[in-house]
Amino acid sequence: MIAELEIDLGAIRANVRRLAELVRPARFAAVVKANAYGHGLEPVAQAIGPEVDAMCVYRTDEATALRGAGITCPILILGPIEPCDLAFAHQARAAMTMWSRNGFRRDAAAVARRGGRRFDVHAKIDTGVTRLGLEPDGAAEAIAAYLSDPDFDLRGVYTHLAAAEELESEFTLAQLATFRRALAPLDGVLRERRVARHAAASAAAILFPALRLDLVRAGIATYGIWPSPQTRAAASEAIELEPALTWRTNLVVVREVEAGRSIGYGCTFHTARRSRIGVLPIGYAEGIPRSAGGRAEVLIAGKRAPIVGRICMNMAFVDVTDVPLAHAGSSVTLIGADGDERIDANDLGEHADTIGYEIVARLPAEIPRRYLAREAAIVARTS
Ligand SMILES: *Cc1c(COP(=O)(O)O)cnc(C)c1O
Repeated sequence: MIAELEIDLGAIRANVRRLAELVRPARFAAVVKANAYGHGLEPVAQAIGPEVDAMCVYRTDEATALRGAGITCPILILGPIEPCDLAFAHQARAAMTMWSRNGFRRDAAAVARRGGRRFDVHAKIDTGVTRLGLEPDGAAEAIAAYLSDPDFDLRGVYTHLAAAEELESEFTLAQLATFRRALAPLDGVLRERRVARHAAASAAAILFPALRLDLVRAGIATYGIWPSPQTRAAASEAIELEPALTWRTNLVVVREVEAGRSIGYGCTFHTARRSRIGVLPIGYAEGIPRSAGGRAEVLIAGKRAPIVGRICMNMAFVDVTDVPLAHAGSSVTLIGADGDERIDANDLGEHADTIGYEIVARLPAEIPRRYLAREAAIVARTS
């Protein structure tokens, strides 16, 4: 084994139940883009399918994969759909996101007519991320056009928040006000047609009850990872999140070296004493951020050991001088628990100038994932 990811599907299911309970009566959509934040799209979706009201993906092929895995709930594609993929999105009974007045409207309408069924659509309004979304002025008019179009079924209207990890964020409340103002002319018809209004991702769903609206779209918290340290500090009493992912590898060798030895590329680290240096068989190509070199830690035999020197493409070094039990073959935990110690994705992110989101989203799909579901461990194919 070069490296292995162990995914506790029971933990993910427990997180979904707790989050869904917290936000009720708002509905719960699990965001499973980026290979379910590195946890593996299909096994995760199958584990939580019965628990969620909807799933959000970024791309059409993800929606198609979900249907192939037997997922039957509503699916929303958050990202752009290539014109050549519109028919696949429609076949997958996925809803597309609309953020411009006429973008693809005619192509999508043609696909709907050919398929003999309306195209589900959610309209997106930009209230401050300045990414995708209709400008608030005029959004009602564009949305009304979709409401009256026989080729579309408007299922939702949504926005995305820029700073919801910050407590008492005025920006977040201003975004909500803008969203409400943009939709005010359509309030009656949206209610009558049961169009879901949604805005909150994980942080807002946990921190801002006013933003839960009709539906929340929770990604990172589904996997038991806090969106930010502030969110955790503010809300760890209100909800428990169980990390689901453990990332392990083994020491290839342990080298006994004298003081003053140079370790790795660039000679950035020299042993200060007679040392035992362990070599890991994974590096930045396998998802350890290069910026974690000299800063992050791993767990070996229940103890912390620092990563030293530069991370190589397929290897990395740890100083195991203070871990006498470490030997070639020892299990090394990069994320997860070992004995009383635990490292989570945000800890590793912090030591690499990034966030837990990036750490898990970049875990290569090729790393074998082992799935724990209650008693049984299922080895899933990751092709
Ligand atoms: C990724 C994403 C989410 C989920 O965000 P989390 O912070 O992971 O909960 C929600 N909505 C949109 C539009 C997204 O792109």
